[in-house]
Amino acid sequence: MTPPDPAPLADLTETAHTLSDISAALAVLGWDQEVMMPPRAGEVRAHHLATLAGIYHEKLTAPRVGDLLLAAEDAPLSDTDRALVRELRRERDRAVKVPPALVRELAEAQARGVETWRRARPANDFAAFAPALEHLVRLNRQIAEHVGYTDTPYDALLDEYEPGMTARDVTALFEPLRDETIAVLRRIQASPPVDTSILDGEWDEARQWDFGLRVLRDMGYDFDAGRQDRSTHPFTTSFGPPFDVRITTRVEPRLLTSALFSSIHEGGHALYELGFDPALARTPLANASSLGMHESQSRLWENFVGRGRPFWQRYFPILAATFPERLGAGDGERFYRAINHVAPSLIRIEADEVTYNLHIILRYELERALIEGDLAVADLPAAWNEKMRAYLGITPPNDADGVMQDIHWSSGAIGYFPTYTLGNLMAAQLYAALRERHPDFDARVARGDLRFILDWLREHVHCLGRTFSTAAIMEQATGHAPDARYFSRYLTDKFGAIYGFSDRPTLA
Ligand code: ZN
Repeated sequence: MTPPDPAPLADLTETAHTLSDISAALAVLGWDQEVMMPPRAGEVRAHHLATLAGIYHEKLTAPRVGDLLLAAEDAPLSDTDRALVRELRRERDRAVKVPPALVRELAEAQARGVETWRRARPANDFAAFAPALEHLVRLNRQIAEHVGYTDTPYDALLDEYEPGMTARDVTALFEPLRDETIAVLRRIQASPPVDTSILDGEWDEARQWDFGLRVLRDMGYDFDAGRQDRSTHPFTTSFGPPFDVRITTRVEPRLLTSALFSSIHEGGHALYELGFDPALARTPLANASSLGMHESQSRLWENFVGRGRPFWQRYFPILAATFPERLGAGDGERFYRAINHVAPSLIRIEADEVTYNLHIILRYELERALIEGDLAVADLPAAWNEKMRAYLGITPPNDADGVMQDIHWSSGAIGYFPTYTLGNLMAAQLYAALRERHPDFDARVARGDLRFILDWLREHVHCLGRTFSTAAIMEQATGHAPDARYFSRYLTDKFGAIYGFSDRPTLA
């Protein structure tokens, strides 16, 4: 028995700082790997990452940390300190409950899964990928058993990404959303199509880049606490937020909107972490309350602001001046409609705002069935195609552009997909609250004022970090727990106006 610690909290805070510093170092190495690292460094970098991850795990699971947590849980604490103890407890329990041999087996299965997927997808060979996926599903089920759950093993997996949320909660949000989205999609498909030809052709990369930087600055992204680089897949990473939060984007000459909306999306993620209260720095509370909340920040900026009409009232003339030979004589309304055109498509990451959530709901239903043993991996492609037909009305011509399109399952991430749609739903709810607080929302955005949006988010969401749960932050910010109705209403309003079937006054 160790004697009772006189100041468990001071020691725990120091542990939290150490853990946070190690994660920051891991993140720097990861960022470098994606953005800067020369190809021959791959193997030695893997060792660096593994060594640091090992040290992190050792520090977190040290018996002394367990004693300190027990002592702190009995001590009178401020709200912030109690949250710190709660988060350390949460992370440590998960790390202690899963046996090291299983952690190692999962890490190897993940590496093999991704490698197999990279070969099987271009070859359109699901049978070659299936054994790796079966192994990953089995290991995830074992992890769920070790972590523990009440209703379904899926809850234990979901909880890692969306703390406090259960499959029951997700289904209650997703089922009505799915049915209403399908109804909206049918109405769109019965309407005359939107002309997208204004987006055709090639767009100079350097000018695309500069336009994106301008928008990021206007959003309030601080280049003294961040930077934007190029990478194959856009991402946001932070090294000790709120002091260094970086983003990447990818520029496609034939897709004008790709770099811009990636920049706005990642910029939204980055603004969140740059807004954490500096007093939370180097602790687990300088963290998003959940992945869904993180995604709500990126989607709010990308879709609710960046794909909105007021935004383009301001920025279309600037974009036209950037590409005078292409857009000089164009009109902003035509551009706004083109970037919001809706069409069911095979690939999730290319999906529009209406169909996107159907891609996610489909994945949620399938991965849950896999984990609960209601669906065999061998039957997954057929189940995928059947849901694609039922929800989106299209049949994938092959598995490469169907069930094998995403990296998530191959890397063992099960329970992750719902966070994307939860992000959309919470974005809609925060957006509704913002508009209620600022009835002149559209006029201000059309004038180029975006800072009031950031100010509101900073005050109601960002500064809190992970001090409270996602549900509690949503309650405080909007007056309600997460609710899908805000999103459904937004879809009908916006796309009803664009496609001409609105029963309600438009948002514009
Ligand atoms: Zn995102």
